[in-house]
This record gives sequence, C-alpha cells and structure tokens, in this order.
Amino acid sequence: MAALNKKSVDDINVKGKRVLVRCDFNVPLQDGKITDENRIVAALPTIKKLIADGGKVILCSHLGKPKGEPKPELSLAPVAVRLAELLGQEVKFAADPEVVGPNAKAAVEAMNDGDVVLLENTRYRAEETKNGEAFSKELASLCDVFVNDAFGTAHRAHCSNVGVTQYVDTAVVGYLMQKEIDFLGNAVENPERPFVAILGGSKVSSKISVINNLLEKVDTLIIGGGMCYTFTKAQGGNVGNSLLEEDYLQYALDMVKKAEEKGVKLLLPVDSIAADSFSNDAETKVVAQGEIPDGWMGLDIGPETAKMYADAVTSAKTVVWNGPMGCFEMPKFAEGTKAVAEALANTDAVTIIGGGDSAAAVNQLGYGDKMTHISTGGGASLEFLEGKELPGVAAANDK
Ligand code: AMP
Repeated sequence: MAALNKKSVDDINVKGKRVLVRCDFNVPLQDGKITDENRIVAALPTIKKLIADGGKVILCSHLGKPKGEPKPELSLAPVAVRLAELLGQEVKFAADPEVVGPNAKAAVEAMNDGDVVLLENTRYRAEETKNGEAFSKELASLCDVFVNDAFGTAHRAHCSNVGVTQYVDTAVVGYLMQKEIDFLGNAVENPERPFVAILGGSKVSSKISVINNLLEKVDTLIIGGGMCYTFTKAQGGNVGNSLLEEDYLQYALDMVKKAEEKGVKLLLPVDSIAADSFSNDAETKVVAQGEIPDGWMGLDIGPETAKMYADAVTSAKTVVWNGPMGCFEMPKFAEGTKAVAEALANTDAVTIIGGGDSAAAVNQLGYGDKMTHISTGGGASLEFLEGKELPGVAAANDK
C-alpha cells in the first residue's frame, strides 16, 4: 500500500458552500439519554473549523442498527441537543423519516454561512448499507462539498461515506479521519524503527491477515491473548482447556516460519496464568507456557511474559497494539493487559492503539492521554492493519 495522501478540510475553501459532513455519532443511548459523548466531542474540531470558515455545515451519521426503517429510539435528535450545547450555537435537527426529505431540504435551503443542520439517522434508509444510487444522489444534492470524518465505518462502502462521493466534485477527509490515516495507515507503512506490533484477543482466525501483513513490516511481533495457545499447541505444548483453534495449527507454524525467513523476532508467551474455570473466582496458578495441566486453561499471560513484552516495548520507536493479553474483563486476568498498557504509557515511542478492546482497556486504566493515537474504529483499524484499502478512505480526493 502506497502512502495515503488525501485532501483534508485544510485544503479547501468552504466559504458560503454547503458542506455535508459524515460524522460518527453512533453513541450509546439509554432511555433517550446519551451515556458516552466521546464521539460527539471527537467530531468537534472538524465541525468548528468548517463553521469558522463560513461553511453551511450539514451533518449526517448512522446510529445503531435501525435496519432500514425509522426507529424513534434510534433518532439522532438527542445528539443535536447535546451538540448544540457543546458548540454553543443552534443545531437544527431535520426530522425526516426518509433522511433527505422536505424538512432536510427546507432546513438546508434556509441556512446562512456558519449554520449547522443535523440530518436524521442515515440507516433509516434501507439503501444506506447497500451503497444504493438513489440515496447517494439525494445526499449529494444537499451539498457542494463532502467531508468524511467517520473512521468507524471507513471499511464499509455505504451511501453516506462512499456512494455520495460519486456525485460531488469535492470529497475530502476531516481531522479525525486524517489522524487515523496518518497513524494506522502511514505510520505502519513507513514506521520509525524498531517497529513492534502486539497482537492479542481471542482468536487466530480473526487476525490471520493482520499477522500475515504485519510480518512484512515489523521488527518484532508479540503475540498474547487466547490466540497464543494455538501457537503453543502447534509447537508441541500442552494447553489443557485453553482456547484452541485446531484448524489453524498449521497456519501458526507457517507464521513462525515466515517470521524466521523475514528476520522478524516473534515473541510468544513463556508462561501463563492458568485457571481451573472460566471465572474470576477460579483457582489460579502460574505455569510454564507449554505445561498447562488438563482441566486448566490459560486466561492471561504470566508475569515473566509480561516483563518480557514490556521490555520489548521499551526499546521500540513505533508500537502498534491490537487485542488484550488475557480475559481482562475479569480483574484476576487483567494483569498482562495492564502491564502492556503501562509499558506503552511509559515509552517515548509512537504508540498506536487499534480500536475495540485494547482502546477500552487503555482508557479504563487511565492511560488514554499517554498514547500517541487511539483508533476510533475497531473493524476499520483491523482492516487497515491487514493492509487493505478502506473504501471510505479511498473515496476521498487525492492531494
Ligand atoms: P478479540 O475480539 O478477538 O480482540 O478478542 C477479545 C477477547 O479476547 C476479550 O473479550 C478477551 O476476554 C478474550 N481473551 C483474551 N485472552 C483470552 C484467553 N486467554 N482465553 C479466552 N479469551 C481470551
């Protein structure tokens, strides 16, 4: 993948223009109340920039899975209210069940420079997730310029992030997308070395392409989490009742061989925290990696492994981390994940955290502001690490 050089909101002049911005306002709601507003806050820099530049700012997003029909409990109306408070100016909510309906058109028609309108949940329309032509054209008809700032859906080709770009002359990325491209895309492509990747999580099968792609790029690949037991078993160890994917034993061996051929240091655990049941009340003991007794299961990396992994991070210049080292949701098996998070918090390296569980773990532990970049997209960040072209990124104009 060549370096990505996309036009951003800094490369365009939006004065007096209608700017449609695809945001990620997919916030958790409980009884109509927003329980975590991080995504709204994260969208503010791009929105404020466009307001300051005198654009007519039309925002759109999906929220949850209304499955192509209006579901009042998944309306974006509460987001408009909170956004208005955060911006300190009116945000007109265009309550159209068909998203681009009479209310939306009238609201856009009435806009002055610097005004903000929020459209209804794009997934009220069945065509949205199918990248249908009609809805893409309707969205495009509202604007002169399109800005994509929703990384969480960048790995999907939908009307509101990809289809719409076919019917507008100018399609650029916002600040959030730019940051994801800079770190997950370009830093991984052209890293400062040594470059260390840490992969964890439950399954080898869901990270096959990530392991394969990263082995082409990194100096050291560290493996933890449930997926390490498939490697341990493949190398002749006993894993007891640990997570094991029998179908991937050969794949694990192939990856060990590929690492050798590429001169990549592949670090696998040397010890585990074994438990007699999948529970925080389980009896536990530290065991050597390939010696997990029958009836026991490895639910976290052991202390020696945690130290080895932390040491490997210390001398790195770039670190990418995706997936927890153990069942960190249970405090008894969170130590390995904590140790890695702490090591990343304390290094001077560029630290890039893939979305999903590792991002949640880093934030929970209070290390969020110590990391260079925490991705906002779980699935999208994984596909970036697989070296895939993301449709939502590809659709933006090149510089
Ligand atoms: P993933 O969605 O593949 O990134 O996996 C995340 C999940 O992997 C978390 O819910 C962890 O609890 C789980 N996990 C991590 N280590 C283990 C392990 N040793 N055994 C079982 N599950 C694990």
